[in-house]
Amino acid sequence: MKVRTTLCHTGRGDQTQEVRSVNAPVMRASTILFQNYETWQKYRDLRKKERVLSYGARGTATNFELEKLVCELEGGYRAQLFPTGLASLAMVLLNYAKAGTHYIISDAIYGPVRTVAEEFLKKVDVEVSYCKADCSNLEELIKPNTTLLLCESPGSILYEIVDLPKVSKIAHDHGMIVAIDNTWASGFLFQPLKHGADISVIAATKYLSGHSDVTMGIVVCNEKTWPSFSVLPEALGFTTSPDDAYLVMRGIRTLPVRLRQHEKTNDQVVEYLKTRPEIKTIFYPKLETHPGHDVFMKLYDGANGMLTIELADGYTKEDAVKFQDALKYFACGASWGGYESLATVTTPPRTATDWSKRGPFVRFHIGLEDAEDLIEDLGQALDLISKEKK
Ligand SMILES: *Cc1c(COP(=O)(O)O)cnc(C)c1O
Repeated sequence: MKVRTTLCHTGRGDQTQEVRSVNAPVMRASTILFQNYETWQKYRDLRKKERVLSYGARGTATNFELEKLVCELEGGYRAQLFPTGLASLAMVLLNYAKAGTHYIISDAIYGPVRTVAEEFLKKVDVEVSYCKADCSNLEELIKPNTTLLLCESPGSILYEIVDLPKVSKIAHDHGMIVAIDNTWASGFLFQPLKHGADISVIAATKYLSGHSDVTMGIVVCNEKTWPSFSVLPEALGFTTSPDDAYLVMRGIRTLPVRLRQHEKTNDQVVEYLKTRPEIKTIFYPKLETHPGHDVFMKLYDGANGMLTIELADGYTKEDAVKFQDALKYFACGASWGGYESLATVTTPPRTATDWSKRGPFVRFHIGLEDAEDLIEDLGQALDLISKEKK
């Protein structure tokens, strides 16, 4: 089965019934009933290794169907849902947190992860170093007690590319676990577990759900990491709503068509922005000038709606804000991956590389609106702040 077929046919519940609905019904439950004590005991034992029905908080059939689908999409062994993408990343960090150990996190990581490191890992005596966004200096930072690499590719805001097969090899040679935030590719554009990662995390809040109406995260493990990973979230009582799982499942059915359309419109917007002298740098991995472009083309099956620009020298943050506020179709808001366009003036959170002298930056999510409308909108807002002679 090819990916697009999987996305249409997997996770639809029991397909053997003579008469049935297209989608599996939502199963809402706290108490689960067992025929007798023997069955009860069998499922208690099973749930130590598998995602099976045993108690509502441990997941219902609706949650399991989604886990199964994303797991298949990512080529994983088992997957588990979490209430948010951030909770998923935090759980990976918590799971391996042992006093006296050392983690390496890529500089391109989703910003709030730094708070987890600062507010939790530090307290339990886990040291964190930030490597370059593309992990090119990973080896220099590895110590005898380094146990985990958490990276993100393409990186948040600036889309730095990690050569995952190469980086995983280095980390594995030092006995480390390799985890990656795969939200940008959302399983369709890249499958990290097939390229060396042990754990892949997706914020389903973004493209998997695709409609800006639900938050959820998912952790996909390989066979090596699943046994250890699956214990802690159970112990901590993490759960997700089956209604939310249903919404994500509904979104995921159209993931390929949405992503291809976001990419197509983004390509057109990028071509237009190249002609504007108010812009110095366009951050978009499909551009030949983008750092890591060759690795990106080798590993990834296309781009999405994410795009960031840096305004030309002489433009201030105030100009960027004026530009953002002048946009008609690009709303001001966090998150991305819905059908709608967004724009936010932003500063990339980086510590391993100094970006303080750069910018101002504006990050866009290119939505599913008509490309002509978006381009016209960007044009009028750039005209408004333009210091160029016309
Ligand atoms: C948004 C985002 C997250 C966090 O997802 P939430 O569901 O909002 O917590 C994690 N990683 C990346 C790359 C993201 O863009």
